[in-house]
Amino acid sequence: MSHDYDIRTVALYLRKSRGQNNEEIDDLAQHRAELIAMCEERGWAYTEYAEIGTGDKINVRPKMLELLQDVEQQMYDAVVAVHFDRLSRGDESDQARIKKTFAMTETLFVTITRVYDYNNDQDIMMADFEGMMARLEYKTIARRFRQGKARRAKQGFWSNGTPPFPYVFDRETGKAKPDEANLLVYRRMIDLCLNGYAATDIAWELNKEGIPSPRGQLWSPAVVRRLLMDEVHLGRLVVGKKRKLVGADAIVRKPKDEWIVYYNCHQAVKTEQEHNKILFLIQRQKETPPAARAGSSQFSGLIRCGICGHTMQIQKRSDRPSDLLKSCTHRDHFGVRCPNLGGAIIDIAISVKEAILAKQEQLEAAIRSGIQLEDIRVILELSEQKLAEMKQYDSMLSKLEDAFFAEKISEERYMLKKAEYETRIHALEEEYKIIQKQADNTQNARNEDMLDSVKKVLAVINSKDIEPKDINRAYKSIIHSIEWERDDFDDCGAMKVNFL
Ligand SMILES: [Zn+2]
Repeated sequence: MSHDYDIRTVALYLRKSRGQNNEEIDDLAQHRAELIAMCEERGWAYTEYAEIGTGDKINVRPKMLELLQDVEQQMYDAVVAVHFDRLSRGDESDQARIKKTFAMTETLFVTITRVYDYNNDQDIMMADFEGMMARLEYKTIARRFRQGKARRAKQGFWSNGTPPFPYVFDRETGKAKPDEANLLVYRRMIDLCLNGYAATDIAWELNKEGIPSPRGQLWSPAVVRRLLMDEVHLGRLVVGKKRKLVGADAIVRKPKDEWIVYYNCHQAVKTEQEHNKILFLIQRQKETPPAARAGSSQFSGLIRCGICGHTMQIQKRSDRPSDLLKSCTHRDHFGVRCPNLGGAIIDIAISVKEAILAKQEQLEAAIRSGIQLEDIRVILELSEQKLAEMKQYDSMLSKLEDAFFAEKISEERYMLKKAEYETRIHALEEEYKIIQKQADNTQNARNEDMLDSVKKVLAVINSKDIEPKDINRAYKSIIHSIEWERDDFDDCGAMKVNFL
């Protein structure tokens, strides 16, 4: 009856059993042979989990724990054993735990004689037939992707889309590696942070110096914060942060102690000590944001001349309802003064607030449509396939060279084949790049971070009795610059807010 299910990858669980007088019966070898024969007959790829100890409780069986952890990662379509009592003998809570793990992860349990689907009832109740078929197809692809991902993570391979700055994906090793130029920038971010710079100040510094962000855009404090706090930069891979709820279209974030962490997967770019200090500093900044580097007026350093690009000055006027944006004072090489006129800060503040509200709406819309893009998994799987194909052609190419130098093939044939392989590799590289670009799953995270920041800024500017320097700091956390242009005293001026 197993042909009803799409089984391709399984775990074999093997364990010694005990006889009536508690003597060990060494039927392990025989069971192993039977199970392997079954896998081979059905064309299943298998991984063995053989338990040497004979403790009954799950918690004293390391292979069982490892198996459950891997099942949790949906590494397998099914777990195979001679009988369910090999997984758990009698203990009801252990049995419930195993069945629940199988059901939650939609992993089947297979014995020599039958297939158990602990999720079956739920599946049938969940939806009508058509809906179920569509979901099953999607689930199969998603599962294949997760299986590969979990397996590769266990071996330290990067399989999570684009690695975070300063890392890049190394096609040769399949791992993440720091890019040399990016690493210098990252180390500088760490130093600035350890020297008391808040994420806002670090982003501001980097933007001022024209250093592009990971996506070739401007740095935002949220991106800086995320990169500084990321555990990937300690050389780790963290998997299983989220879980899809069975029977609901929701993805929940698991508590941190349930995450699975693999160590020494790639080169670390910060030390554990630095990491802990950074976490402490950033936590403290969240509680009491220091305003030391913020300007004395709410728009200090933010307004640029829309004609010549120079920063415009603000004149404080405590005796009037509004501060004044002074006319541009910049002069060109011939001493000709820029014609851009100033304006009232109070009017600019109103327009900036409107722009921030529009930005909020735009981000919310982007996040809403982004969530439906679950296809990202499929895209990533496609990119893995391209990678595998490239590797295949690479090895064919080196075999071809070996054959040529060993004088087994003619030069003519060598050149012809070489050109063919190289063309194919080049085409695959292009395809791979395009897929990677589409699968850049950082955009949604960025949007969520930005929306969070935008809401905080709105809270600041809407609150009463707030210092101008605090408002300035808030603006700088989401705005890169405000371009102002006013050609004539008769027009009221035009402005454009450039967000980070
Ligand atoms: Zn100007």
